[in-house]
Amino acid sequence: MIVVLLGPPGAGKGTQAARLAPMAGLTHVSTGELFRAHLRSGTDLGARAKAYMSRGELVPDSLVVEMVRDCLADGEGHVLDGFPRTVAQAEALDAMTAERLIVAVISVPQDKLLTRLTGRRVCHEGHVYNIVTSPPTHAGVCDVDGTPLTQRDDDTDAMVAFRLDVYARETAPVLAYYEATSRLLRVDGDGGADDVHQRLLGAIESAGATVPSVVGGASD
Ligand code: AMP
Repeated sequence: MIVVLLGPPGAGKGTQAARLAPMAGLTHVSTGELFRAHLRSGTDLGARAKAYMSRGELVPDSLVVEMVRDCLADGEGHVLDGFPRTVAQAEALDAMTAERLIVAVISVPQDKLLTRLTGRRVCHEGHVYNIVTSPPTHAGVCDVDGTPLTQRDDDTDAMVAFRLDVYARETAPVLAYYEATSRLLRVDGDGGADDVHQRLLGAIESAGATVPSVVGGASD
């Protein structure tokens, strides 16, 4: 099974994917996190993605699709976070796997997206905080590994506005793509991560998912 989490930047896809994946026995694949890891490791793919990421633009479909294809090749189940982001990527995903797709879009009001994104701070391992809604115990330091927290380059006010625009232009049509084949589940992403998690599980169950831990409704 492949769970696809859609939604604008700041909707909580990463948070929900990180919770859902271990309990459902699925591997969490965040394309943004994969690109950032490539950047940190100085790979050719990282260098090619960097220019697009630093402008808040989408990395070309061909680069993303090949990276995801490699991830899915292990034959395990996955939670996809941040992919697909274009209709071409959605079509490529349908073509590359025979696995059942469970597609959920997480929606959050625009003003809350802005607070979430501009307040977001991350450590270099990818642990995520928000200075307003979920601050670390000690300001500026990761609770998990004690490393400094920084703001992502693309979480500044101007970049956030641009990324939301890119979402509306490039990714919103992906919702219609899945809706056209009755595969789109809608999840209200407004509220705390626990509540959204429960709503997501409910939506997945409503789609008849057969993952035992999901059907059992365990929360963590
Ligand atoms: P994210 O961490 O999901 O917000 O992604 C950060 C950045 O990585 C995006 O702004 C894009 O530049 C790039 N990226 C991540 N996923 C994709 C994708 N599926 N298609 C194109 N670009 C992507």
